[in-house]
Amino acid sequence: MTTIPFFFQNSKSGKKELFQPKDVNQVTIYSCGPTVYNFAHIGNIRSFLFVDVLRRSLLLGGYKLNQSMNITDIDDKIINESIKQNISVEEFTKPWTDAFFKDLETLQVQKLEHYPKATESIEDMVSLIETLQKNGLVYERDGNVYFSIQKFERYGELSKIDVSGMKSGVRYDADEYEKDDVRDFVLWKNQKSETEKCWHTRIGTGRPGWHLECSAMIRKIYGSGIDIHTGGIDLLFPHHENEFAQTTGAYPKEEFVGTWLHCEHLLVDGEKMSKSKGNFYTLRDILEKGFESRVIRYHLISAHYRSKLNFSLSKLEESKVALDRIQNTIYRLLESHILTDPIPATWEGIVFSLPEIQKLEVDFLNAIADDLNLPKALATVFELVRIANQSLDQKTSDSDLTFEKECLQLFFKMNALFAVFQFEKPKEELNGISEDWILEQIEKRKIAKQNKDFVTADSIRKELENQGILLADTKEGKTTWKKAQ
Ligand code: AMP
Ligand code: ZN
Repeated sequence: MTTIPFFFQNSKSGKKELFQPKDVNQVTIYSCGPTVYNFAHIGNIRSFLFVDVLRRSLLLGGYKLNQSMNITDIDDKIINESIKQNISVEEFTKPWTDAFFKDLETLQVQKLEHYPKATESIEDMVSLIETLQKNGLVYERDGNVYFSIQKFERYGELSKIDVSGMKSGVRYDADEYEKDDVRDFVLWKNQKSETEKCWHTRIGTGRPGWHLECSAMIRKIYGSGIDIHTGGIDLLFPHHENEFAQTTGAYPKEEFVGTWLHCEHLLVDGEKMSKSKGNFYTLRDILEKGFESRVIRYHLISAHYRSKLNFSLSKLEESKVALDRIQNTIYRLLESHILTDPIPATWEGIVFSLPEIQKLEVDFLNAIADDLNLPKALATVFELVRIANQSLDQKTSDSDLTFEKECLQLFFKMNALFAVFQFEKPKEELNGISEDWILEQIEKRKIAKQNKDFVTADSIRKELENQGILLADTKEGKTTWKKAQ
């Protein structure tokens, strides 16, 4: 399969660039994942759905992927809570990690190749610190190890932060650690008390700083630099700047990341949705309000990932209406019973023959290849809705149904990205008779006709009519059915 050229807005260069992975059959992508101490809120979920959109888009573009998302299961909140509840860190984080994966499953997020955990990457973090020690970029104070940004000239290159402008006394780092110079960040924290979770390592007894895990995991999984790194926009500084400093400081000759992508925030009343502000909904909160998970997915992915999205239940309701419109067209196409083998197992291998459908497919793929422009991609979906409905409105019982068939298949291909459309007709109320029985009667009638037993064939048609089922024979020799109005 040939690949489609993609263009991404690279946070590092600030420009939209042609995406040039090292190997199209092994595109390496790393995304910062959840800190597992509570349910994710739908703001966090927006950033995870963005990773799914990136994955599904590149797969549609013909790339093969090797993708990772970390699970942060070492963190001050986690350690403090597990001490409070008198349970181990593992016991404390397990249900939250499970809840995270359950949320992803509910939202049709595809599984990635790797989900490394901080607790399983201690040795990799220790070796990274040792390499940084060798390169003279760290110092130790009271058993804590810090990265000295003064010794790393390229600090600020990613986020364009002006290091000289970073003021003393301002909190830059989310870690709840003490340090001498506010601009430096901690790589390793000495154990403070007996009860605190710690690891006995070559560099001492303690635990790693948060920024370190991503650099170490990327090294562990990929061995060198990667093609794409993603995260929420709030991670650009200091987290990603620090990752860049750690990895580039340790391996100065290598490029750490080719393309940095950052997803904008989900807002509530103009403010970032966050746990600390208390202005958040979890997925469960929204499901309990009666919204289907696919409406939530559709809503969160339909805005461009680099645009802020203001969340409200009324906006979510609008998305439900939009999704219903698309879905109704798909149901109409399904109801026309045009496909004996309706939906292929996968979108791969679907080929369109009609120029109008081919053009829409190209427009759709071009939109996603243009920095994942989902609003533009959605415009092609609605154009498909329009032309499909127009054709269905004009259809007569002996119309050629190739157009409808290709419309349906294009919706199916588009769903490889959106993952919100349904291709099973909702079970119709058929006065107590089953669809299977109807199909069986159609098959019997076909055989009767082949045997030139037109009396039986007609009586089957009549019997179905009596049950309120109308048959139509297409030019291609297929028989479709519909409920009498
Ligand atoms: P955390 O679980 O806090 O480590 O965050 C997981 C991911 O969610 C990170 O990539 C954050 O940047 C992202 N994130 C946090 N709040 C929001 C928000 N309101 N909108 C979008 N992404 C967010
Ligand atoms: Zn990270």
